Amino acid sequence: MTATIDTPAKPSLAGLGREGLAAALASIGVPDKQLRMRVGQLWSWIYARGATSFEQLSDVSKELRGKLAEAYTLARPEIAAEQVSEDGTRKWLLRLEKRGHERRAPEIETVYIPEADRGTLCISSQVGCTLTCSFCHTGTQRLVRNLEPAEIAGQILLARDRIGDWPGATGPGDGGLLPDAERKITNIVLMGMGEPLYNFENVRDAMGVAADGDGLAMSKRRITLSTSGVVPEIARWGAEAGTMLAISLHATNDALRDTLVPINRKYPIAELMAACRAYPGLSNARRITFEYVMLKGVNDSLAEAKALVRLVAGIPAKINLIPFNPWPGAPYECSDWEQIEKFAEIVNRAGYASPVRTPRGRDIMAACGQLKSASSRLTARERSVEAASS
Ligand code: SAH
Ligand code: SF4
Repeated sequence: MTATIDTPAKPSLAGLGREGLAAALASIGVPDKQLRMRVGQLWSWIYARGATSFEQLSDVSKELRGKLAEAYTLARPEIAAEQVSEDGTRKWLLRLEKRGHERRAPEIETVYIPEADRGTLCISSQVGCTLTCSFCHTGTQRLVRNLEPAEIAGQILLARDRIGDWPGATGPGDGGLLPDAERKITNIVLMGMGEPLYNFENVRDAMGVAADGDGLAMSKRRITLSTSGVVPEIARWGAEAGTMLAISLHATNDALRDTLVPINRKYPIAELMAACRAYPGLSNARRITFEYVMLKGVNDSLAEAKALVRLVAGIPAKINLIPFNPWPGAPYECSDWEQIEKFAEIVNRAGYASPVRTPRGRDIMAACGQLKSASSRLTARERSVEAASS
């Protein structure tokens, strides 16, 4: 049953940065000179040990634990649905808190993809996306808002809870970090819903929390931001966040890219490639990934494979060919497998390892570009109501 009166929920501290934690502690009367030490304690409990309740904070006085619990929680985003694919891929539909004038709680998706040598968590940066790439399901969703830093970092905490990825997963460990070899989530990709560079500060702050060596301790070399090409923010992202970069290229000429990735009309290919060449820290050990979705008869000719190789020449690059993941009503088909292989061969011969990204979690619609929350289906209904009444 839905409550008729909304009681304001206690805010969660899970996902906040050090400044946010300090402000929360100050608000319940922790004296200034204790703040640093208390933030350090909270940090370790939340991000190194995965505490979900203040009662677990055994090195914090009972009195302070009580005050914390009166004002705050360590809650994660609410799970609206959890699906596990035949191949072990997991997808969570998460329901966030309503903000301001939002009429319903917005929903986002997070996906965990286990592989033999790594475990990748694909996280969302926005509810929906303001861009309208013609092959992307998220781009058809109308409800859009930026995620807050804690909502972004909260996806990592929630995934670690659900797959048992904390030291002493069944209870608080000894405070030590989980050894790298035992980690389930080894990589983070900002390839879920949204354009992360349109939510720059919040994504940057959340990745700061993820990379903090006293907590989640994710290596920045294992965090990848994927962008459709928000050119003016690329150098700034490199300087302020310093993660790996992936570019959703998808076409080798402006006329086609204008139709597939409309932001190209604002920032055409030449400007995008110049920003890539200037990306801070670029080297053979830190390559840019170029993503290229394989659309049958649209961008998959062998001439385009050659053009792709010419375009990235001189940039330390990886090329990632992504079979198009269809969604209901999509205006494209995935290229034939034979064609993908021929295309890949040209790219490989030019010296680029070009793994064709095997679609994972297809049975649960967890693959790239399919993420679109259930709330957008309600939006469609709403839209038809609006249309009928206008
Ligand atoms: N907005 C960012 C990150 C999210 S999309 C971006 O566009 O880069 C993550 C990747 O999935 C992008 O490369 C995007 O182009 C790709 N993608 C979107 N829809 C897809 C689909 N239906 N099939 C395959 N890849 C898709
Ligand atoms: Fe947005 Fe990326 Fe989808 Fe384009 S591909 S609509 S930028 S999420």
